[in-house]
Amino acid sequence: MDLGLRGKVALVAASSRGLGRAVAEELAAEGARLCLCARGEAALEETRAALAARGANVVAVAADVSTTEGIEAVVRAALDAYDRVDILVNNAGGPPAGPFEAHDAAAWEAAFRLTLRSAVELTRAVLPGMKLRRWGRILNITSIAAKQPVANLILSNSLRAAVTGFARTLADEVAPYGITVNNVLPGYTATERVVQLAERASRERGITPAEAMRAWVDEIPMDRLGEPREFAAMVAFLASERAGYVTGQSVAVDGGWIKSLL
Ligand code: NAD
Repeated sequence: MDLGLRGKVALVAASSRGLGRAVAEELAAEGARLCLCARGEAALEETRAALAARGANVVAVAADVSTTEGIEAVVRAALDAYDRVDILVNNAGGPPAGPFEAHDAAAWEAAFRLTLRSAVELTRAVLPGMKLRRWGRILNITSIAAKQPVANLILSNSLRAAVTGFARTLADEVAPYGITVNNVLPGYTATERVVQLAERASRERGITPAEAMRAWVDEIPMDRLGEPREFAAMVAFLASERAGYVTGQSVAVDGGWIKSLL
């Protein structure tokens, strides 16, 4: 299937590692031009160089998407390089784990800036150009927590719901301009985030990280973690020309973890 992504410009936030990097790799393989960002220079440069070595057209800028300056920097880098953004992939690191009483007001505000505000403000920055060109794809990387709350992740559970409400409302507003807005929900996927969550669970529960991981895998009908490239394939499809009539949706790539009918 030709996804029609050749030459499109994709801004993929938080993309030096994990799901963001896998999405960048998949879009590059389909011929898209890329703008990447992450907070740290070293991993970001390694990712940029690896993609460029495979022939991708790629720029990267160190930027924290939880800040106004970071958002301005990555959008400016994309516009300086390509003069447009056709595909926006909103992504950031996950907010910290823990129960309600572990998080003070400052932690909630930080989670808001990281998870909701980053998606809202990156969207605000690229939407006018998409409307002018009457074509755009906005994709939010959220979580299975958007459909079924995950124990001990109250910040993520709360903020993913907010992103979902934002996306569903925006989808209707921008549909007349040929712009789609969708969420892609990773289940437990083999990235550093999952390794960190397993280490934290092992400290809290007096088990090994491998035992914590096994307990999660036991909840997954596929009986394994997802691979980042399996997640990225869904993002690439939703970013494609072919997915032009799919909007306002939350699509899970979770090996069957979510138990709801819809
Ligand atoms: P990861 O920790 O492996 O990678 C996160 C990437 O984001 C890195 O490149 C990091 O440098 C970058 N980043 C983090 N904070 C940033 C910021 N403020 N500004 C710019 N870049 C930033 O995580 P991942 O597994 O790829 O997860 C990506 C998102 O998906 C997270 O929000 C996570 O909570 C969510 N998620 C992941 C899983 C999973 O199993 N991996 C499951 C559900 C949800």
